[in-house]
Amino acid sequence: MASDYYQTLGIPKTASADDIKRAYRKLAHEHHPDKDKGNADKFKEVNEAYQVLSDPQKRQQYDQYGTTFQNGGGGGRGGFDPSGFSQGFGFNGQNFEFDDAFDIFSDIFGGGQGRRQSNRRGVDLEMEINLGFSEAVFGVEKELSIDKKDTCAKCEGSGAEPNTKVEACPKCHGTGQIRGMRRTIFGQVSTVVTCDRCDGTGKVPDHPCTECKGTGTKRRVKRLKIKIPAGVDSGMRIRVSGEGEVGYRGSNAGDLYLHISVDKHPIFTRNGLEILSEAPVSFYQAALGGEIEADTVDGKVTVKVPAGTQSGKVLRLKNRGVPIMQSSRRGDHLLTVRVVTPTKLTKKEKEIFKKLADESGESVNVDQGFWSRFTS
Ligand SMILES: [Zn+2]
Ligand SMILES: [Zn+2]
Repeated sequence: MASDYYQTLGIPKTASADDIKRAYRKLAHEHHPDKDKGNADKFKEVNEAYQVLSDPQKRQQYDQYGTTFQNGGGGGRGGFDPSGFSQGFGFNGQNFEFDDAFDIFSDIFGGGQGRRQSNRRGVDLEMEINLGFSEAVFGVEKELSIDKKDTCAKCEGSGAEPNTKVEACPKCHGTGQIRGMRRTIFGQVSTVVTCDRCDGTGKVPDHPCTECKGTGTKRRVKRLKIKIPAGVDSGMRIRVSGEGEVGYRGSNAGDLYLHISVDKHPIFTRNGLEILSEAPVSFYQAALGGEIEADTVDGKVTVKVPAGTQSGKVLRLKNRGVPIMQSSRRGDHLLTVRVVTPTKLTKKEKEIFKKLADESGESVNVDQGFWSRFTS
């Protein structure tokens, strides 16, 4: 589960935006993985905490629910990875959204994420995915066809012709990296660059695979089943870990990002976790009270209308809204009452209404055909 982000940054819950930024910069400096005493895990935690707390909306959500739906970690190939789930909860474990604090690092450490994410990692793919209203509310499994670079079947991604030797790269001695030293204003700093001979793989095939010309990748259409979790909404983005293009000679695959758009519903609209709709209620029912049938995403439900209900009154149907991600709770359905005034009255009805009006002490000009109060 997500650790306490405030604790991670060592700040109180009341911390200001400036406090958060200051704490983050200090800790990010301290734990940066390229530094001698750096710690990638801590760095990741600090980043994660900052991604949430620096965004007022996410911070509010975190304060309220204790999560922004991004804890859950890892996510193997093909699985849905809630850690990348986002309406911009966009921290995804690999692509740190670098704060400007890192501009000062990039010069010293050879380009921040550039080193971690060399060009042999597979390309991330982006895709629009369209969902029906209920699919978004309750979740759905979708089958996608993705045209992408996938693992070469012949060499299984190694880039070497089957049954031929793969040698350790002579230039980097199989490490994939070339180390060096650089002088900076902070003194000598060790640098690491990707080996250009083997593209960082540390291996060189004796005989490159004829099918993929040694790249280990082959373009094809891959069919993929994706579980879309309940509660997603338009504008959200889902990261499917490892389902981007595969990397050069078996290097890490990129990720697949699904951009969600949700169809409009004829009667429901959505406001975050709440579902909104209107319910017509007859004049009589509104006055006397009673029960009506209302449509919800769960089907029809019986709703009590209190006596004396005014048009525009909002009735809250608990737990009929959108499921809260990674929780068993749900939002509410807000039903706005629209009182329907009768338009065509029979003679007898008119008589009764007039009597009603008299009874309540109101004078009504019946001849005009509408209620009109005498104001004297
Ligand atoms: Zn191949
Ligand atoms: Zn090499």
